[in-house]
Amino acid sequence: MKNNLEDIPFDAVVNKQGTSYAVFRGQLTPRYATVFADIAKGYFFLIAIVVSLSLLQKHSTVPWWLLIPAGGLFIGYTAAYIALFAHEASHYNIHPDKKKNEWLGTLFLCLPFGLSLKSYRKIHWQHHLHLGTPADTEISYFNHLSGLFILETITGVHLLRTMFSKEKSTVLNKEQIRESRLMLMAGALLHAGLLTLAFLTGNWLPALAWIPGFAIFFPFFASIRQLLEHRDELADALTDFRKKPHGKISRIFYHTLLSGSFGAAGFTRHMIHHWDPQASYTRMKDIEQFLEEDDKTAAILRDSRTSYTTVLKKLYNAH
Ligand SMILES: [Zn+2]
Ligand SMILES: [Zn+2]
Repeated sequence: MKNNLEDIPFDAVVNKQGTSYAVFRGQLTPRYATVFADIAKGYFFLIAIVVSLSLLQKHSTVPWWLLIPAGGLFIGYTAAYIALFAHEASHYNIHPDKKKNEWLGTLFLCLPFGLSLKSYRKIHWQHHLHLGTPADTEISYFNHLSGLFILETITGVHLLRTMFSKEKSTVLNKEQIRESRLMLMAGALLHAGLLTLAFLTGNWLPALAWIPGFAIFFPFFASIRQLLEHRDELADALTDFRKKPHGKISRIFYHTLLSGSFGAAGFTRHMIHHWDPQASYTRMKDIEQFLEEDDKTAAILRDSRTSYTTVLKKLYNAH
């Protein structure tokens, strides 16, 4: 059984009442209050971490050289959580009004990561169109999960490679490239402003944790998550998937409190997202239950369901 639903048309999936998914999906309106609450949770945790670090700086005896990487880890994990909602904005699912979706998404979800929502949408759509082929644009999963790859993600080598990959410049038009550069600069200015403010007010510990948080741990979590979603356990370590097709594989992960934050905004059910990319993550559970009622799709789900740690172990030990 292939880890992939994409060859199954919406009208070929039918639940116990005889309703086809093609009809059912029309009733699945996004729950915008949940979207708002989930994004707010991300910002609440980010602020809570910064305040805790500021208090630890003043009152704790734990050495700074331990608090900086630990703080960076939490900041990066939370940043990666927030970034997943930029993906939801790219599918027009954070506000029913398209214009508001754009400016809310730009201000709260893309600016902190120096992203242009329009350009990201275009690049991300190529990932949907070309998953598993050399034309894919989100390709962390082309990498063998090795100590070297982890080192590359932690040192920023992988991030730079992703930012300056030639695939992107061929996908985006001139206007989108211009907007991407502008947003990258705006993002850099935002972080420079926040860091200046923190240093000027004497909060050097949260500031020094913020830098590896966004520059090291955030890209680390984002790349590893993408690799775990799509890399074939049987993929050859040495094959260059920019030249040879990797094949279409998507996974569905058990949704727990921890996996639900690592794979927030529907990412634990990434396989379903690739099947119906426009569906809101707030309705993923309903879709999963629907798919359980059809024997074909239920079998695929059963076969593809796993946990992040299981895949991590399998891919790390693979050759
Ligand atoms: Zn994907
Ligand atoms: Zn998507």
